[in-house]
Amino acid sequence: MPTFPAFLLSRDEDKNQHLEWTEVDEAEFMEGDVTVAVSHSTINYKDALALTGSSPVVRRWPMIPGIDFAGTVVESTHAGTAVGDAVVLNGWGVGETHLGGYAARARVPGDWLVPLPAAFSAEQAMAIGTAGYTAMLCVLALERHGVTPDDGPVLVTGASGGVGSIAVALLACLGHQVIASTGRTEEADYLTGLGAAEVIDRDELSGPAKPLAKERWGAAVDCVGSHTLANVLAGTRYGGTVAACGLAQGMDLPSSVAPFILRGVTLAGVDSVMAPRAARLEAWERLARDLDPAHLAAVTTVRPLADAPALAPDLLAGKVRGRVVFEVA
Ligand code: NDP
Repeated sequence: MPTFPAFLLSRDEDKNQHLEWTEVDEAEFMEGDVTVAVSHSTINYKDALALTGSSPVVRRWPMIPGIDFAGTVVESTHAGTAVGDAVVLNGWGVGETHLGGYAARARVPGDWLVPLPAAFSAEQAMAIGTAGYTAMLCVLALERHGVTPDDGPVLVTGASGGVGSIAVALLACLGHQVIASTGRTEEADYLTGLGAAEVIDRDELSGPAKPLAKERWGAAVDCVGSHTLANVLAGTRYGGTVAACGLAQGMDLPSSVAPFILRGVTLAGVDSVMAPRAARLEAWERLARDLDPAHLAAVTTVRPLADAPALAPDLLAGKVRGRVVFEVA
């Protein structure tokens, strides 16, 4: 069987994990009817958790990490997918339970793939990645709940991170007044460059929340969870909506029902991993329409895939700005 180069995560008897750059036999491929020559991948929060082993993201060993990839189909028996198609994959457990994108080859069920939108190169699609596609799912959730630019400012927490940066750019492009919350106030120029009207220090939102606070924003995209999400809910205007997608501060939600029962606030949950195909296609179509390529370029850094292990702890420490694309081939 032919082999392909990949990062492979394995675990020893003491459950210590090891990462090596190695050749993997195609016989190791998992279930799937499409093989993709991967050209680009990226690093998301979940990839950093997997690479560092700081959270049990990987549930099958050994594992090729990488929850996203873009590339070209080289083999297919899937009805809707032909050799030569440019495709994108986000989530579906890839890099967690199914061999992932930090490899020159990936085999997956064709139903998991979306066509690379004509508006984007493979590099741009990975600059968007799960983070950007999740940011779009959050914007769509706000829209589904009727949020318009007339409803007041939209707060984005974790604004300098991947989801946050793209959410700021998308919301500003759609005419919303964006308040960006960040722990990196030195990134204020970066965030205003993406369209934020105001930048606030995340310390304002990181401590224990009161049940209700002054109504400051009409809607929010929260990447942070925990006390931050509790404060976001407490400060949301009457009838507003908060799209919650992240847990950078924590998985808990030390809040009360007050924002829901006294202000009619809606908490809209957003999951990208198992989102149905129709939602993915809508999100990618809207990204092609609403994401300014200049803003995408401003959030993107391109690095070789070999840099992934070193970047992971920095990403978890909130030291990586925007999005990093890996060149695989
Ligand atoms: P990044 O690491 O790029 O961004 C996270 C940002 O959160 C950081 O840049 C930082 O922003 C902020 N942050 C980090 N630590 C803390 C803290 N202790 N308290 C408050 N803020 C903090 O990650 P992503 O953008 O890729 O992902 C963001 C979150 O969304 C993650 O929790 C991730 O797991 C989740 N996610 C969920 C998805 C879903 O399907 N629901 C899909 C994709 C991501 P700043 O420096 O600006 O404060």
